[in-house]
Amino acid sequence: MYDYDLLVVGSANADLVIGVERRPGAGETVLGSDLAVHPGGKGANQAVAAARLGARTALLARVGDDGHGRLLLDSQRAAGVDTVGVLVGGAPTGVALITVDPSGDNSIVVSPGANGRLTPQDVRAAASLFQASRVVSAQLEIPLETVVEAVRSLADGSRFVLNPSPPRPLPSEVLAACDPLIVNEHEAKVILGDSAVGETPEDWARILLAKGPRSVVVTLGAKGALVASAEGVTRVPSVKVDAVDTTGAGDAFAAALAWKLGAGSSLAEAAAYAARVGAAAVTKEGAQESFPTAAEVEAR
Ligand code: ADP
Repeated sequence: MYDYDLLVVGSANADLVIGVERRPGAGETVLGSDLAVHPGGKGANQAVAAARLGARTALLARVGDDGHGRLLLDSQRAAGVDTVGVLVGGAPTGVALITVDPSGDNSIVVSPGANGRLTPQDVRAAASLFQASRVVSAQLEIPLETVVEAVRSLADGSRFVLNPSPPRPLPSEVLAACDPLIVNEHEAKVILGDSAVGETPEDWARILLAKGPRSVVVTLGAKGALVASAEGVTRVPSVKVDAVDTTGAGDAFAAALAWKLGAGSSLAEAAAYAARVGAAAVTKEGAQESFPTAAEVEAR
């Protein structure tokens, strides 16, 4: 018996957002809107998304002993995430400084802060969380060696899901554990490099699968997603919605997919459900604020 449907190992950031008429160039100062502070970071987002859907969820992350860290802990607890694995201190909470112009284009500076101090030792110290978790999901906003240690800490029979964002080369040990590796178009292109040029998303899925993961999911925004495994490549239908803000759609998709897979759904079934969750998330502003409950997904 597992105590948790999902353990998310990843980042927690405070997103500091200012609206501007024009994003500043070098040496320039511009005036902007009031500051908005949102809980974010891919790990924190995935954990909130899964918990909203009803998954018994825990987060292994590190925040600073500061106001942003408390904001993140509060938002996790409000969503029902078990924060026993959220470590406090060692560096300031990770921050994303975001300026957004009226056309929606943004400039972002990320200070990883405490996320960069989530160590392999922290993963080893959380061994009991891994033993209690049916599925473990990770992203790459924490040190790669910490993700490697997470793979080594998986309980027998549990499943590992990775969204390699921001994308970087992955050791074969990590690739071989992914079931699935979840990439969007940008991540697929960075990981595949020249071999992506001139190929279709179906080809990307096949080429990625040949690198060692047990399965691959390519998310295609409004065009839905593709799933690939030894049984072949299948297209997951897109869900038509009026998109308002796509922030966090990939995190909601990954969390929903991980949870459904743990509950016994096939990859295609889980991806179809995740596409409905991702579509719901783009109909509202924000990231964590936009994630639906299971009832909201069913009602759509
Ligand atoms: P990311 O946020 O990582 O770039 P995507 O933009 O591919 O990821 O979105 C993840 C998933 O969310 C998609 O596969 C799709 O199921 C859903 N989604 C995203 N944007 C839309 C949209 N405009 N309309 C419907 N579904 C969407």
